[in-house]
Amino acid sequence: MEDFDELINTANKVYLENFPPTTYFERALFYSWSCQINDCKFCYMSTKPPVKDFNSVRTVASILAEVILCKHFGWKLGFVSGGVGAIPLPKLEELLKYITLVYGDKVWINIGTVGKSFMERVKPYIHGVVGTVECVNEKVHEFVCPSKPLLPVKRMFEQAKELGIRRAMTLILGLGETKEDFSNLKNLMEEYGIEKIHLYGLNPVKGTFFEEKSPPPKEYHAWWIAQTRINFPTCQIECGIWSTKADHVSILLKAGANSVSKFPVLKRFGLKEAFEVEKQAEEAGRTFEGTLTKYTPLTNVDLSCLPEQLQVQVREKLRIYLNSIERNLNKQKISISA
Ligand code: SF4
Repeated sequence: MEDFDELINTANKVYLENFPPTTYFERALFYSWSCQINDCKFCYMSTKPPVKDFNSVRTVASILAEVILCKHFGWKLGFVSGGVGAIPLPKLEELLKYITLVYGDKVWINIGTVGKSFMERVKPYIHGVVGTVECVNEKVHEFVCPSKPLLPVKRMFEQAKELGIRRAMTLILGLGETKEDFSNLKNLMEEYGIEKIHLYGLNPVKGTFFEEKSPPPKEYHAWWIAQTRINFPTCQIECGIWSTKADHVSILLKAGANSVSKFPVLKRFGLKEAFEVEKQAEEAGRTFEGTLTKYTPLTNVDLSCLPEQLQVQVREKLRIYLNSIERNLNKQKISISA
């Protein structure tokens, strides 16, 4: 335990030498809920029917309304994501253009492996590409992601590098890898110049192979973050937690994570788990930028960058989202006073 405490203290020190003592929430913005690959053993989308006729894509208005909420409450966009092949590429390009117009900044994309010509086309809208590495133990990777080999991800990283596009990756802990595999992560990050990593703990999803498995303990998650921080002092590290893991935030931040993601903020905004995330940030000595708990009305949204009809649709979706957040908050008040 002493070694562990020492590791966390070292990682925290490295973090504070390279970043301010702040943290924030990053939202993964999804545009679809099904995927052509459909067989990664941990994934919610593997429990859904495969993509057919691009039929499970959210409306552009709904996606843009969520972007506006992110800006309003100070949540950053971790990446824009969706199932592989869920949307035709020209549509995706148009969607990215709208998202960046409304967001006022470029975004990271996590949409499976994409080719050089697509990266070139969307370069004006993206910070970089996120490779869905998921697991750095090759054997485990083959088993867990049978139709998503690592080679095309590595090729995408190489091509992105040639185009001057930044690289990020995802890693899910608890799939069967061990601490011994950290050297594989280190080599991969060094070889492809990874600047950002999304480090999640397994969330066992009903209907998947991992349904009955346990998520990794917070100390294990923190160990990987701390090693990554110490070896890559300036890398952006995002830790993924679910609403049941709000009490993990403090140790994960002390281990050197920059930000928190995966918290289901639209459903849990202002509820006790959201307060817990902010409290945990404070315990880790970080100021929480943005809010998961303080509701402020949203007025005068400027959508003049969008076509008129889309403006109307976005306002309608925004109204629905805000009503739903307010309803949750009211339910909370009732249950507190009951
Ligand atoms: S490719 Fe991505 S979205 Fe598709 S099943 Fe695998 S993890 Fe899920």
